[in-house]
This record gives sequence, C-alpha cells and structure tokens, in this order.
Amino acid sequence: MELHDILILGSGPAGYTAALYAARANLKPLLITGVQPGGQLTTTTMVENYPAFPDGIMGPELMELMRKQAERFATRIVHRAATKVHLGARPFTVEAEGERFRCRVLIIATGASPNLLGLKAEQQLMGRGVSTCATCDGYFFKDQAVAVVGGGDAAMEEALYLSKLCSKVTVIHRRDKLRASKIMQDRAFANPKIAFQWERAVEDILGDEASGVRGVRLRYVKNEERTEIACNGVFIAIGHSPNTALFTGQLRMDARGYIVTEGGTRTSAPGVFACGDVQDHVYRQAVTAAGSGCMAAMDAERFLETEAGE
Ligand code: NDP
Repeated sequence: MELHDILILGSGPAGYTAALYAARANLKPLLITGVQPGGQLTTTTMVENYPAFPDGIMGPELMELMRKQAERFATRIVHRAATKVHLGARPFTVEAEGERFRCRVLIIATGASPNLLGLKAEQQLMGRGVSTCATCDGYFFKDQAVAVVGGGDAAMEEALYLSKLCSKVTVIHRRDKLRASKIMQDRAFANPKIAFQWERAVEDILGDEASGVRGVRLRYVKNEERTEIACNGVFIAIGHSPNTALFTGQLRMDARGYIVTEGGTRTSAPGVFACGDVQDHVYRQAVTAAGSGCMAAMDAERFLETEAGE
C-alpha cells in the first residue's frame, strides 16, 4: 500500500488551504473530501467577508476556486468519506468506504455539521419541509410561508435569503435578543417580509411525510403558553457541532467534542494536526479556517523534516 507523506481529511477552506501549502512544498498531498465536497460554504450564498472579493463571492464558487488552486499544484483528491482512522501507531491508516490509505502525517479538517433541535418530527420531515440549508432547499418554498429557527448570523442569513423567494419568513428565537452581528440584525429588521417570534421554543413541527410541513407549535418560554404558526418549510439554523466522531478515544477533545490543539495545530497524537472548525468554536470563519489550514501544512512539513523519522 502506497505511503503518503500527508493525508488531509476534509475539503472546506481549511482542507484545501492545507493541500495548497503541502502541494507547493512538494509533499504531494492526498485529500479525502468527505461527504460534502467543498464543506459548509457550499450551502451558503454570498460570502462578503472573505478578503480579496470586494463585491463578495458565492460560497460554492469560492470553494471551486480553492479546489482548482489545490489541484493546480498536484493535490490528489479522492471523493470518499473516511470511515475509520487508526492513529495508535505511525504510519497512520485511514479507511474510506472500503479503501485503505497509509500516511506519515494526518491533517484533520473535517469541519462541523449543523445542530438539530432533537424533535422526532424534525427527523421524520427532514427533506420534506425541514431543512438546514436555505440555499439548497429554499426554492421548494417559493411564494410560501417558512420559519427559521435561531438567532445567530446563520439564521439571519437564511431568513434574508428566503425573503427573496418566500411570501413570509418568521424567525423563531428562544431569547428576546439576537446573537447575530449588528449588520445582519439591521438587515433582517429592515426587511418587511421577515417577522419575529421572540422567546419561543419550537415544541413540535406539524405535518406528515406525505404532505410535508404545515406549521410549528411554539412554547412561550416565560409562561408555557402554546401557539401554532402555519408554514410550509422550517429551516434550522442553531449552530454546529464538530465532526469528530471518527477520532473519539484517539485524540484529546474538549467537552463539546472539538479537537484540542496546542502550539499551532498539533493534536495530542504526534503527527496528527487539526485545522478549521473541527478545532475552533470561537472564530469559525472561512478566512480563519483557511489560515489554520496553512498553519497545519507548515506544522506538518516541519514534523516530516524533524520528527517523523525518529
Ligand atoms: P451561533 O452559535 O452564532 O448562533 C446559534 C443560534 O441558535 C443562537 O441564537 C442560539 O440561541 C440558537 N440556538 C442554539 N441552540 C438552540 C436550540 N437547541 N434551540 C433553539 N435555539 C438554539 O451559530 P451560527 O451558526 O449562527 O453562526 C456560527 C458562526 O458563523 C458565528 O461566528 C457567525 O458570526 C458566523 N457566521 C457569519 C455569517 C456572516 O457573517 N454572513 C453567516 C453565518 C455564520 P442563543 O442566542 O440563545 O444562544
């Protein structure tokens, strides 16, 4: 089995930037994309805060450019999802849907995935009215009423996007203040199609698999009063959790499951580096993920030069 110097797991800004740097250092990285090639940015619309794009750039296009740039310098891209990793001994082994890969250094850039409310109906109606991605599914609700759950930037972004397609967007938030940045709040408040349900928790999503969603039942957090609002789509935007299940018991993680890194991008296993949202719950931006991908490649390169042979 071929021994790769660097294997990268993940194809978001962190993974592709790590690949770009590793490839330009002539380390011929192998990158395993995971189930969602391009990562979370492929489910967003306009990215206005990635430097060098003064007019903004669409998330999927940005990721396409990153992929091209990594491939230009001989990154080998494998369209699979890693299913098992063995980090107990070097070289490491990664299994990806039946295929095995060996590597001297592993860079983990598996990112994070959307959180869900934990309701039974949410699972049942996922893809039948419930969604975590307005860009992907918003069009199905053209000229219909939809709800967005959450009060962060992601929820405002989803609401603003949906307001261009849907007849009405109701944002449901569990507190009386948004967490979103001021600029996103201002845009949402100024939008006549966006209404707010404050201090309301989603208790149930109403509907069935045959006819889809017909509404949500809300619980007022202060006095338990229940209300129902009619809508055909429910978009959940309540944050993310790191994709670290593969590494449980093999790497040090914090209480929320984020990989702990020290001295740059080093994990608790020598030769394993982590970058992007899988190890960062503070900044979580495309540009910081890309920056840490660069750091991981440089840390990995240094490791290969100095420690890998020891
Ligand atoms: P955030 O963690 O910022 O917000 C999550 C929101 O969901 C909060 O309002 C939170 O409520 C609410 N929430 C969490 N759990 C539950 C639950 N179980 N039930 C109901 N509500 C819940 O996550 P985002 O995904 O919005 O943003 C993540 C990061 O990405 C942030 O740094 C953000 O700035 C950035 N981002 C930037 C964008 C932009 O600038 N265009 C677009 C999208 C994201 P509460 O407020 O009460 O905690």
